[in-house]
Amino acid sequence: MSIQLKDSGLLKTQAYIDGQWVAGDNGATFDVHNPATGELLATVASVGAAETKRAIEAAEKAMVAWQALPAKSRSDILERWYNLMLESQEDLAVLMTAEQGKPLFESRGEVGYGASFLKWFAEEGKRVYGDVLPSTADRRSIVIKQPVGVVAAITPWNFPNAMITRKVAPALAVGCAIVLKPAAETPLSALALAELGERAGLPAGLFSVLTSADAPAVGGEMTSNTTVKKVTFTGSTGVGKLLMKQCADTVKRTSMELGGNAPVIVFDDADLDKAVAGALVSKYRNSGQTCICANRILVQDGIYDAFVEKFTAAVNEFRIGNGLDDSTTHGPVITEKAVADIHAKVESAVAEGATVVTGGRVSDKGSHFYEPTVLTNVTDEMRLFKEEIFGPVAPIFKFSSEAEAISMANDTEFGLASYIYTNDLGRVWRVSEGVDYGMVGVNETAISSEVIPFGGVKESGQGREGSKYGLDDYLETKYICMGGL
Ligand code: ADP
Repeated sequence: MSIQLKDSGLLKTQAYIDGQWVAGDNGATFDVHNPATGELLATVASVGAAETKRAIEAAEKAMVAWQALPAKSRSDILERWYNLMLESQEDLAVLMTAEQGKPLFESRGEVGYGASFLKWFAEEGKRVYGDVLPSTADRRSIVIKQPVGVVAAITPWNFPNAMITRKVAPALAVGCAIVLKPAAETPLSALALAELGERAGLPAGLFSVLTSADAPAVGGEMTSNTTVKKVTFTGSTGVGKLLMKQCADTVKRTSMELGGNAPVIVFDDADLDKAVAGALVSKYRNSGQTCICANRILVQDGIYDAFVEKFTAAVNEFRIGNGLDDSTTHGPVITEKAVADIHAKVESAVAEGATVVTGGRVSDKGSHFYEPTVLTNVTDEMRLFKEEIFGPVAPIFKFSSEAEAISMANDTEFGLASYIYTNDLGRVWRVSEGVDYGMVGVNETAISSEVIPFGGVKESGQGREGSKYGLDDYLETKYICMGGL
């Protein structure tokens, strides 16, 4: 095995079901590769519908005692898990960079971010309150909150750690059990989390990890099994819609964190250096592979040329390469297919008149690398305007008025993150209220943390993750009427 960890016990290749490390159905496996080098990292157990069913049954059993515990006892285990994650931060980061490609400094950051959800919900889980409602002479009306039941989670490869803890921590904190299918590209980070959960004292069955190359089989069981009361998903809008349809048959609750098409709107009165710096981080973090990455940079005509010049100069300083090398600022793209998809969008824009200011081709570093790209002369008719790019390509659009900027920002079926750069206080309010997005960053693009409600509107999804609101997704509201008093 080519990954060197200080704690080799974190490198797991079997699925984790009901507290046991198990092989896949009939010994089925799938391979995990390093996207930067193509090297085979591990061969991992591939489970199917039968094991998924077994994990769900184990979850139901385990939940009985778990939800009866005082919240403080659940919290203590989550807190231990948090500490163990931080103690293993370097190993978890190396594992993540090896299977996902992002530079090591980004992986370290994600492990810290991922751990923060365990700590946050260890605290928030102790603060689940009910209500006493206005009552009449002969009756009292009360509301209590209870865990929603067994939860099934499906997560993507772009944040192999944090997208898991963001769902697992609130579910466990309020007394649910959860079964998880991580992305087949990045199962090792998920399995390492399960190992640390076990070391933290998490009882068997409460958190199972169903590694699989057959997502429809696992997803099919998760969405049809009547024991599962809630499905929480982060991934593409297409798969999210499919899962919602599948959940309709048993009327499951769903939380969906789907695609985005984030605008960064830069007004003439903005601080240019801050706007350039914010747009760069938002666009190119994780090589453009996050759902809140700047997808469309909209710049007012008065500072358009200056913005493009500064932005491009900074992009030309990037050093793309293997994320495990300290000098790398930007890593590979997850698959060759993703590289081809990104390039197809650039080519179609160029065919329709876009200008490549820098980049615009597959890198000579290898078939998984795409050159950081800047495009101008782009229009709202192009695929780059309408679709999520999910790669290191920045189309910079021009607008004239505030109303035009809001209209361009909203001209999409997506509504996850948006960003505005301006120093006009009135404009901050008007634009923040005018854009149809779940999140607005004002003079800031690093908007994510465990403290804030992360989520989208329109076809970007439903539900919120993190913050005090993040508990609601895992709680049912029960009304109790006490009559005849
Ligand atoms: P991405 O484009 O980021 O890979 P996907 O939506 O395809 O986004 O993948 C996100 C997660 O959804 C992954 O864990 C993937 O395995 C899973 N997935 C993909 N197709 C299905 C499906 N038909 N049923 C259940 N899960 C699926």
